[in-house]
Amino acid sequence: MSGPLLYIGVDVGGQSIKAGVVTDEGQPLSSVSVPTEAWKGQEHGLEQMALAVEEAARAAKLDLRDIAAIGIATPGTMDIPKGLILDPPNLKPWKNVPVRDYIHGRFRKPTAFQNDANAAAYGEYWAGAGRGVRSLVLFTLGTGIGCGIVVNGQIIEGEHSHGAEVGHIIIEMSQPRRCGCGGRGHLEAYASATALAQRANEALTRGEISSLQALFQTKGQLAPEDAGEVFRAAAMGDSLAQRLVEETAYFLAVGAVNMMHTIDPNMIVFGGGMTRAGPSFLERIREHVRQLAFPVPAAQTQIVYAQLGNEAGFIGAAGCARMLVRQGDR
Ligand SMILES: [Zn+2]
Repeated sequence: MSGPLLYIGVDVGGQSIKAGVVTDEGQPLSSVSVPTEAWKGQEHGLEQMALAVEEAARAAKLDLRDIAAIGIATPGTMDIPKGLILDPPNLKPWKNVPVRDYIHGRFRKPTAFQNDANAAAYGEYWAGAGRGVRSLVLFTLGTGIGCGIVVNGQIIEGEHSHGAEVGHIIIEMSQPRRCGCGGRGHLEAYASATALAQRANEALTRGEISSLQALFQTKGQLAPEDAGEVFRAAAMGDSLAQRLVEETAYFLAVGAVNMMHTIDPNMIVFGGGMTRAGPSFLERIREHVRQLAFPVPAAQTQIVYAQLGNEAGFIGAAGCARMLVRQGDR
């Protein structure tokens, strides 16, 4: 092939499929989105993934012949070595979908397959907040907590494609909260936007005095998308909101320190909607990490916000495609 190497990354989500052409340096040349429409079934879903690939090339004014390889990232559950989505809670009613073989057969290009949270971590490692570091852990804070780990350029997939499920590490054992996954005491059940809204609802139901009471009374309850209101109230001096935010920072620090004491990475990265809370929230997480971690990692581990926003997944998926080409595999 002549010319610079280009890749297409695809990030399949419950609502939409994001995709783009990405350069060999990790710069996106296009960024497109097509609806997933999971309810229409998995054959339709595969068609939508293929459409996203074609749209990504078209938006970059490129022919698919210009593309060296394709990377697809999807939510779990999955079998990464086999290229299969197994039984995805976010993509019902799909079952055992042969994503990698389908895309490979359709476009006849080397095709990488990866977990979406892992791909986002690889994107930040390759082209975002983690450029130049050897290892990082990414926490993506949204309605749930997604996580990915990269060490020495390798994604920690695990032996059963369940590596880096750090949103579901157990941080509380006495009266543990129920997690979205059905388990108990998991980090996600304490520190996701969903959990923040739920903890706010409990306090507001108890009648705690707060500027959030007006919103609570109007809506009946706060939802995950109201997490921003909690952060706003905290910034305005509301004491309940400040306590909820401080607890969230503490829980996230516990998750970060558990990873620091497990793999000792260069960097912990926080991404996702909750990072719109801004630098003061990050500083609270850092403060708790400094108090909870061993002195050397506490002093030396960088704790930062992600840089690629919601493009991290497809950029990382493209990075996985690039790795495949460089390793000379299929
Ligand atoms: Zn869980």
